[in-house]
Amino acid sequence: MASQNVNTRPPLPQAETPTLSIVVPMFNEADVLPFLFDRLCSFLENLGESYEIICVNDGSTDATTGLLAEAHKRDNRIKVLNFSRNFGKEVALTAGLDFASGQAVVPIDADLQDPPELIETFLEKWREGYDVVYAVRRHRDTDTAMKRWSAIRFYKVINRLSGVPIPADTGDFRLMDQRVVRAIVQLREQNRFMKGLFAWVGFRHTEVAYDRPERAAGKTKFNYWRLWNFALDGITGFSTVPLRIAGYIGMLTALAAIIYGIFLISRTLVYGADVPGYASLMVAVLLIGGLQLVVLGVIGEYLGRLYSEAQKRPLYIVESSLGLEPQDSHSP
Ligand code: UDP
Ligand code: MG
Repeated sequence: MASQNVNTRPPLPQAETPTLSIVVPMFNEADVLPFLFDRLCSFLENLGESYEIICVNDGSTDATTGLLAEAHKRDNRIKVLNFSRNFGKEVALTAGLDFASGQAVVPIDADLQDPPELIETFLEKWREGYDVVYAVRRHRDTDTAMKRWSAIRFYKVINRLSGVPIPADTGDFRLMDQRVVRAIVQLREQNRFMKGLFAWVGFRHTEVAYDRPERAAGKTKFNYWRLWNFALDGITGFSTVPLRIAGYIGMLTALAAIIYGIFLISRTLVYGADVPGYASLMVAVLLIGGLQLVVLGVIGEYLGRLYSEAQKRPLYIVESSLGLEPQDSHSP
């Protein structure tokens, strides 16, 4: 019975729920954790709202696990979910949302690139009646030129291709009403592009501009290869236009081949057989062969994703937790 629960959200605890749940995915963040708790906790204390901090330890191999256990001992509002291995940020975020019980939920990066102080503005907007308040970066000065350029291209492409508009220059840093979170956690696909899922569920939203600082300590977990794959997940998860383009490419090449074929046949009929033609033959063979591989690759991208969905594996495995109701299905 219980094993099926992995793909559904655990029931919300009946006890009193905090106003605010902060969800922090973390992977090898021992360098930055002391700064994070320092700044986050003192900010939340001053804010005067009831809160919980859900730390999702995404298979860290450094001192993060020990530091989190200590933090929980100090303050039981700091709750910990330890994954059995690294499942990636998008999945860690999902797990945090699964367990977040607050009336409003705020995912935040562990490296203090999302300034906690902004949560105060989020709360104001939320109280005005917005269900989602997301932070938009005023500029991308702290990114490399390459990352800036690729981000601009990515948002252009994905917003052209996908049916749901995904706001540019936003991250996962936002406040969501609990009902938005409940909608999001129903989406259990394996290829999780959270920014897309956030946009997909809709609800009344508004934005707040902010300057994104550099990482407080430690180093980024996303290299270009990971970002590229992230972008592919985003596009294939929210659009089937590439498949259609593949079809058009096929149609256009077929059309060109027919026209060229007619030309060749007529020429042969008029002027007789003409043996030389090695160059044009090679060009045609290579071009069409290449196009076929590209189109197969596009289909493969979708097929691979379909395969991982068909396996219906749970999104994550929890190895242990602190301060959170253990779910039968989540524990070993
Ligand atoms: N993160 C995670 N699992 C991963 C990679 C990253 O939970 O596999 C967390 C990481 O600890 C941090 C957040 O995701 O809290 C953002 O990562 P990072 O700062 O490295 O990304 P960047 O800001 O450079 O895009
Ligand atoms: Mg960062």
